[in-house]
Amino acid sequence: MRASLNTYQKVAEKCSEYRRTAQPYAPVNSTRESEIPSCTNCAHFTNKEFCDLDLYDKIVEEKL
Ligand code: SF4
Repeated sequence: MRASLNTYQKVAEKCSEYRRTAQPYAPVNSTRESEIPSCTNCAHFTNKEFCDLDLYDKIVEEKL
């Protein structure tokens, strides 16, 4: 799955399972960016850019 940073942030905002990880997979450009909830800094986001709970697509379809 590929999406813009903005979409990952919108999904994480709506996601009840969002869990911040201390070691985000995706590099962030700034401290501010790393403080914003986003799939890219969620513990459920895998290194294949995929939500291991399979929630991402559901949230995009139902809530965005
Ligand atoms: S990676 Fe999955 S669990 Fe984490 S915020 Fe995104 S949709 Fe939610």
